[in-house]
Amino acid sequence: MTAAKGYAVHHAKDTLKPWDFERREVGPNDVQIEIAYCGVCHSDIHQVRSEWGPSIYPMVPGHEIVGRITKVGSAVTRFKEGQLAGVGCMVDSCQECGNCKGGHEQFCETGKLVWTYNAIGRDGLPTYGGYSNRIVVDQHFVLSVSDKLPLSGVAPLLCAGITTYSPLRKWKISKGHRVGVLGLGGLGHMAVKFAVAFGAEVTVLSTSPNKEQDALKLGAHKFCVTKDAEQVKQLTNYFDFIIDTVSAPHNYDMYLKMLRMNGVHICVGIPPEPIQITGFMLLTNGRSITGSSIGGIPETQEMLDFCAQHNITSDVEVIDISYINDAYERMIKNDVKYRFVIDMKTL
Ligand code: NAP
Ligand code: ZN
Repeated sequence: MTAAKGYAVHHAKDTLKPWDFERREVGPNDVQIEIAYCGVCHSDIHQVRSEWGPSIYPMVPGHEIVGRITKVGSAVTRFKEGQLAGVGCMVDSCQECGNCKGGHEQFCETGKLVWTYNAIGRDGLPTYGGYSNRIVVDQHFVLSVSDKLPLSGVAPLLCAGITTYSPLRKWKISKGHRVGVLGLGGLGHMAVKFAVAFGAEVTVLSTSPNKEQDALKLGAHKFCVTKDAEQVKQLTNYFDFIIDTVSAPHNYDMYLKMLRMNGVHICVGIPPEPIQITGFMLLTNGRSITGSSIGGIPETQEMLDFCAQHNITSDVEVIDISYINDAYERMIKNDVKYRFVIDMKTL
């Protein structure tokens, strides 16, 4: 084992504090990365606080990881020491089932999917995430990162980026489609950038009137304050797709009503409570509701390459790691423009 340090919580009501722990030695297929930046995802907050059910503690959160490779195992072929690399939400899966072989490791059929943190690895030990100085990961789950983009803005692509890119690609969202992006936070602002890049007409649906100028600067064509009943009414039967990035309980019926014939509501946000829908809201216009979970490793690489080619990064506020508990409080108040990213030099 090798020594590592990071920030951890020890129970659901704890705040993040410095914590020393150990990582496994670099095995034949492993890559060791010295972490430069780690994005702060709302999923970190959900899990730190056991909002999705009991979490595993101590927990070092963080799954938007970028840094430089400092060591590779003897069987590693795809990476070399000194290269930039990224790690997202997954660090292992069976790599043998149909879904893994098809590049959809997030849906590993054999139950061997291992999340980057708040999980137990195949060695029986807990996994620890990116709010830390280094990480050791099987090469299959390591992504190549371009040196042409600012690294702090690349970190959020490893979760917020792929989670919004993947459903937009799956549903072939492009020119001629009207897309509503529900919630302008970390995921939402990436959804706007990608939907605009793919040629769709984009409307931001937000509870925060003060985000209108930002939404338009991000490339959105329209902005709707969802607390204003008149603005909401004007969007009845309007969208082909809604990408729902909201992290808290909200009124699904109100948004389903905005879908035109065969419109699709795509859930990527994961509020802690089960969702409630009135049957008639689905029957009318033959609407559908579906979900999407991050994206597989090949598609994550495709997304990173697309971003490098089109100069797309996340809009970030870089923070010292000692600010992390304040950052969480600000995220809960929808006060982040549009992703906090921890500068790991400050650890
Ligand atoms: P975030 O940065 O905090 O953004 C969430 C946004 O939702 C807020 O900025 C706010 O936007 C809106 N919102 C918050 N409370 C609301 C409410 N009560 N009603 C309506 N809108 C509300 O969070 P994030 O990091 O983007 O994550 C969003 C969600 O996606 C989380 O639940 C996270 O766990 C989940 N997630 C899922 C996946 C996946 O694979 N599916 C991957 C990553 C994250 P406005 O101010 O514009 O209203
Ligand atoms: Zn995430």
